[in-house]
Order: sequence, then structure tokens, then C-alpha cells
Amino acid sequence: MITTIISVLIGIALLSMAILVSVRPWRRALISRRVFATYKRILPQMSDTEREALEAGTVWWDGELFRGDPDWNKLLAYPVPKLSPEEQSFMDHEVEHACSLVDDWKVTSEDFDMSPEAWQYIKDKGFLGMIIPKQYGGLEFSAFAHSQVVTKLSTRCSALSVSVMVPNSLGPAELLLHYGTDVQKNHYLPRLARGVEVPAFALTSPWAGSDAGSIPDVGIVCKGLWRGQAVIGMRVTWDKRYITLGPVCTILGLAFHLYDPDGLLGDKKHVGITCALVPRDTPGADIGRRHVPLNAMFMNGPTRGKDVFMPLDYVIGGPAMVGQGWRMLMECLAAGRSISLPSSNAGMAQLTARTVGAYARVRSQFKMAIGRFEGVEEPLTRIGAYTYMMDAVRKMTAGAIDLGEKPSVVSAIAKYHVTERARQVVNDGMDVVGGKGICLGPSNFIGRAYQQLPIGITVEGANILTRSMILFGQGAIRCHPYVLKEMKAAYNPNAEQGLHDFDEAFFGHALFTLKHAFGALGKGLTGSHFVSVPSGVAPETKRYYQQLTRFSSAFAFLADISMLVLGGELKRREKLSARLGDILSMLYLCSATLKRYESEGRQQADAPLMHWAMWDTMYKAQMAFDGVIANFPVRWIGRMLYRIVFPLGHPYDVPSDRIGHQVAKLMIEPSAARDRLTAETYLPNVASEPVGAVELALLATLEAEPIEARIRAAEKDGAFSDNPDANVRDLAHAAFAAGIVTAAEYVVLKRRNELRDIVIRVDDFPHDLGRSRQETVLHKEAA
Ligand SMILES: Cc1cc2nc3c(=O)[nH]c(=O)nc-3n(C[C@H](O)[C@H](O)[C@H](O)COP(=O)(O)OP(=O)(O)OC[C@H]3O[C@@H](n4cnc5c(N)ncnc54)[C@H](O)[C@@H]3O)c2cc1C
Repeated sequence: MITTIISVLIGIALLSMAILVSVRPWRRALISRRVFATYKRILPQMSDTEREALEAGTVWWDGELFRGDPDWNKLLAYPVPKLSPEEQSFMDHEVEHACSLVDDWKVTSEDFDMSPEAWQYIKDKGFLGMIIPKQYGGLEFSAFAHSQVVTKLSTRCSALSVSVMVPNSLGPAELLLHYGTDVQKNHYLPRLARGVEVPAFALTSPWAGSDAGSIPDVGIVCKGLWRGQAVIGMRVTWDKRYITLGPVCTILGLAFHLYDPDGLLGDKKHVGITCALVPRDTPGADIGRRHVPLNAMFMNGPTRGKDVFMPLDYVIGGPAMVGQGWRMLMECLAAGRSISLPSSNAGMAQLTARTVGAYARVRSQFKMAIGRFEGVEEPLTRIGAYTYMMDAVRKMTAGAIDLGEKPSVVSAIAKYHVTERARQVVNDGMDVVGGKGICLGPSNFIGRAYQQLPIGITVEGANILTRSMILFGQGAIRCHPYVLKEMKAAYNPNAEQGLHDFDEAFFGHALFTLKHAFGALGKGLTGSHFVSVPSGVAPETKRYYQQLTRFSSAFAFLADISMLVLGGELKRREKLSARLGDILSMLYLCSATLKRYESEGRQQADAPLMHWAMWDTMYKAQMAFDGVIANFPVRWIGRMLYRIVFPLGHPYDVPSDRIGHQVAKLMIEPSAARDRLTAETYLPNVASEPVGAVELALLATLEAEPIEARIRAAEKDGAFSDNPDANVRDLAHAAFAAGIVTAAEYVVLKRRNELRDIVIRVDDFPHDLGRSRQETVLHKEAA
């Protein structure tokens, strides 16, 4: 009887709630108005620069991942980026030639710059104007082609790749293209395209790095004389640092806060951040000194100016665009960020995969190629699988730009994760090559990459900040179907309209959360086996799509509960925000990897790379879920979340050693899969180049291995037991002398030994590293 009464009461309560929620005026008056008032109170204040940063760019595949139910057909339908015949020819000829013109050791340790010939070549051939349309004399390459070029150049020399990367990234050309006046475009773009002008862009100040909106550099609107004429202009004072190409630039893009104390432009005293183009020879502009960023030797330095007068025409877009600088920068940020660092760091990973894999086969210890030891297999596996995934991310993200997107969150994910994985890949590479990587010199193929990796971590949004604040912080607001609507409603000056909009968004949001609570639980209980997957996907990847949908649903739910419980506080809870961002990122990385596997025709030989990368990343996503749940500020909610997200425990373990072994094996022998993995690596085919030497040594090693196996068998049988020449270096000769190998076989072994010895040797120098010789030369020259 009592249970019947309780059931009836619950039924009545639920029915009343349902009626209340479905009659909009009632729910608005009784629920939304109160929630709205509280929401407005706890919503953190947002500065204009924060708002403009948040609203910039577009939402792309990240939106699907955030919505909890990604449309995989959409992912599969994104066109696969391809080079045009002209772009392919540029890669095959101009890019190859540019690579051949630089010698990284000479650049980084002798000349401290690229040769004049290399500089002239990249200027003449349009490398600095890849994003400039043909009508202005530029190459007008696709984003994908741009990415391919940077990737390849990065496998050769960072000074070369950065000098090409920066003019094609966020800077004068990009800003002029979008906001320049016709006069500015017609004057500067053809000159930038031909390298007559070398651009740099100066935002960062010693006092404002990550928080770039707070730069103390100022311009004061005033009257002054310009080329003999009285004009309204600006007196600008700046102190910038870290400016890439700054020391050699001829035209400096400059960001500063503009003030108009005398009201010469209008009522606004603080006009806002403004971007101007300052020719190098502008009187008072101090440009030319240099920093040394980890011996990379691309040009980078400070620039200063005090009360430098310049006309308003120097503002990009002219007087109409004063105060619009921050919006301009934020709107253009995504394109460059999607390409530059993901490409240069994917290049470093490709180079590592190619050279370290080969080295691990050429170098033997304990009578075996080091790449065959299980311990060495582990880093080799990471190098291979990460490189596969990083390149997948690079290509898919560049493809988004070619689709006309400006994907702000996706570009941050690509930048953060490709640079972090490059750090892991190169670190692993260093471990595998041991002392060979540590001793710098012309024959070291990895040491400079290792040395310079932190640059990518710091620039274009330092990584800790990107992970802590941007990935989820911006992602949640931009990609969530309701959060931005709720925020806009709260900021609406028309309170009644705000309440109306909030009510719609809030109840949509509540339903969305409930849907994903049940969705995540249901998929967890059924192991996501019933999630539908497009019929066109490779059968071996079907489970990944299903599990990704499950994780996406769980992520949507977890994100909502986190925002609900923590509200504006989540902005300060950077560790939680970072882990939520990790989940979103892992889902993106996995999507790109599956996309690559399909786009490249489901190459069976690449399957181990794909499987290992997917397992590893799904496992990391699972750990990120755990990190959020275990540290959830309200303990009982954390426990509830665990039950919903992982009702039957964790679905993923670490990737299997069996697949890891297949990946490691792929790394140490030539194959089409290895060629695909390292397709953009510049490969000089000569033993005098370190990359060429290790490549040739790998081939020679493979040819020698069967012969060597026979020698080893003879050795076991005691053929050399009392022969002092049968040592690790000279065994081949001893075997030939003992008649165990033929003359022809001995030639093969000798060739292998020669190349092996080139590869394993490290450089040595005079004890003073040649300083006294240099001084003598200088003295002679002076005399
Ligand atoms: C080689 C090089 C080239 C560059 N090129 C240019 C250029 O051409 N033009 C230009 O304008 N700038 C350039 N920069 C500047 C670059 O973009 C800035 O260095 C970057 O924004 C970081 O600033 P910072 O080094 O002062 O670090 P800081 O801002 O001092 O940050 C230090 C650390 O604190 C972290 N951090 C800061 N705030 C937070 C937060 N809220 N939450 C969590 N972590 C946080 C950062 O992630 C970082 O790890 C370049 C820098 C370098 C090193």
C-alpha cells in the first residue's frame, strides 16, 4: 500500500515537472529567471581581448567531438588534401634544391646564418610568398602544399624552415591580405612575394609574453611633420623581444595600444591594440640585434623605438582599422598555427624515424642490431606510431584550412600535441642513438633537433598555457552547442531578451546533459558494441569508431557536469581544465589517425602503426578521464561520474607488445611503409651527409646480414676461438682469411663496414675547438 502511494506521489511529481518544463512561460518564471540571476552572478567577467580571442575562428570537427555523437560520415567525406602538379613540381625541384643549399652544421656552428646563396634562392623562388595570391606575384599555394614544404625543409635545417615558415604565418602578408588597404596591398604584397621585403611581426614584450593583450607598448595619436607635410600620426614607443626575422626584416609589423588623448580621431581615449607596418629605415626604429634561440640560427631578436613618429597610413588597413589589431590577430591566428609548428615538428619526427630506425639496424651490440632488443623496441615503437599520428594530424588540420576553416581550437590541439609528441620522439631517438646523438658535429643527425625542440613548445602559445586554458577553456565555449548561447544571453543588455534566450539554451543544455549521461552509461554497459558505424570503414577500425563515440558521449557529459559544478571557477582549476582538454585532444588525434588510414587506402603494412597509435591514445584519453574524475572537487559526484563513465571498468590497457614489436620491426628495415611514414624527409644520397650515410649503411647492413649470420654460426662452432683479429671490428676480415666467406661476400662486408664506421663515428675537434686557428685567420685577414 505504502509503495503504491509513494509511486503515485513520484508519478505526480514527475508529471508536474514535465508540465512545468513544457509550458515555457511557467518554467521561465519559476525556474529560468532564478537560474539566470545566479548564472549572471557567477559568470566570470571577460575582458575585450579575452572575448575576441574566444570568439575568433571557426568550429570544425572539434564541434562534432564536443557534441557527444560525432558524425563519422562527415569525417570520412572531408576531401583528402592533394598537391597540384605545380605544387608537386615545387616540392620535387625547388624544395629539394633549397635543402641542398644548406648545411645545418655550417649554419649552426660556423656561419650562424644561412649562406647568402640560400637566402637569395628562397627569396627568388617565392618561398616567402607561398600564401600570397598569384595576382600579387605570390605562389598562392594551398595550406597543404605550404605544410608539405615546411615539413620537408624542417628535416634539413631549422634556420631554413623557420625563415620560410614565418613570412607565411601570422604576420604582415596575412594581415595585409585580410585587412590591408588596396594601396598597401599593391605596394607590399608583390615585394613580399619576391622577397624584396622581409617581414617580421612584433607582438611580444619583455613584460607581456603569454598575456600578449597586456603589452605596455603605446602609440599616442598626435600631429606631426611627415615628409614635410603636417599630418595626424602616432608617436609610438615599443620594446619587443623574441621577434623572428626581426634582425633582418625590412618591414616590421608592430602591435601596440593606441591612445588618443586629444580626441583627434574621435571620442575614444584608449583606441585599442593597433597593428602597423613600420619600414626598417623609419627614423628611430632600432632593429638589428639578435638572440640565440638554442643555437637554431634563424634570425630572432629584439626591437625598440622611442617616440617614433609615423603616419596613420602605417596602420594595417589604414585609419579605419585603428584599435582593431587584437581582433585581426585573433582572427588570423588559426591558419598559421595550424600549419607552422605542426609541420616543422612533424618534419623533425619524420627525420628521427628515418635516421634512428636505420641506426638501430646498423649499430650492433652484444652481436645483435640494437633495434632488435626489446628494450630498444619500446622507444622505436613510440617514434614510429607517434610520427604516423602526428603526420595524420598535420595533414588533416592543413586540410581544414583549405576547406576555408579557421579552426581555433583544432589549431591549438595540433600545435600542442604535435610539438609535445615531437619532443617525445626526438628524446626517444636520442636514447636509441646514445653518444652518437650527444656529441655535436657535422655527422650528428639528431642533436640539433633535440637541442631546438623547446622552441616549438614555447612559441605560438606556450604549451602549458595552451593545455591549461585554451584547449578546453576555448573548446567548451566555442564547440559546445549551448554554452556560448547562455553566455551571450547573460551579456545581453536587454534583460528580458536575455532571459528568453537563456531559457531556450538552458533547457536545451539540460536535455543534452541528460542525453549524454544515459548515452555514456548505456554505451559503457554494452561496451559500445551497438554503436552504429558507417559501413564504409575498414573492418579492423570499426571498434575504434564505436569506442570513440562512447568517449565523446562521456566527454560531453563530464564537461557539462564540470561546468555545472565549478562554473567560472573552472577557469582557475587549470589541472581539471587541462585534463578535459586532453580528452578532447585525444579524440581529435584519433579521428585524424583513422582518417589517414582510410585516405591512404587502408595500407595493411601501416596497420601496426595505426593500431599502436590508436590504443596508446585511447588509453591516454581514459587516463585523462580518470584524472578528472579522481580529482573532482565534490567527491560523491566524482564517484557517480566514475560509475557512469566506466560502469564495467576500463576498456583500454596499454598497447600490446605484439603490435609494438611489429612497429619496431617496420622501423629498422626499408619498406614502402617506412617510405610513407617518412615521405617528406630530405634524403641526400651520399655518404658524406649524415642522413645519406645512415641510409646507405642500412642498405649495406641488410645485404651483409645473411653473410654475417654464417660467420656468427662459424664463430659459435669455435672457428675463431684463438684468432685475435676476429674482434667486433675486424670479424669480416678474419672470416675471409679463414675461407668462410667468398671474395664477393667480403666486398659486401667491407662496404657495410665502411659505411657502418662512418655512421658510428662521432666528430672530434682541436682541444680549443679551433678558436686559435680562427683567431689566426682573423689576424691574417686584418693584416
Ligand atoms: C624563438 C622564439 C621566437 C618567437 N617569435 C616571435 C615573433 O616572431 N613575434 C612575437 O611577437 N613573439 C615571438 N615569440 C614570443 C612567443 O610567442 C612567446 O615567447 C610566448 O608567447 C611565451 O611568452 P614567454 O616566453 O614570455 O613566457 P611566459 O608568458 O612568461 O610564460 C612562462 C610559462 O608560464 C606559462 N603560463 C603563462 N601563463 C599561464 C597560465 N595562465 N596558465 C598556465 N600557464 C601559464 C607558459 O605556458 C610558460 O610555460 C617568440 C619566442 C621565441 C622563444
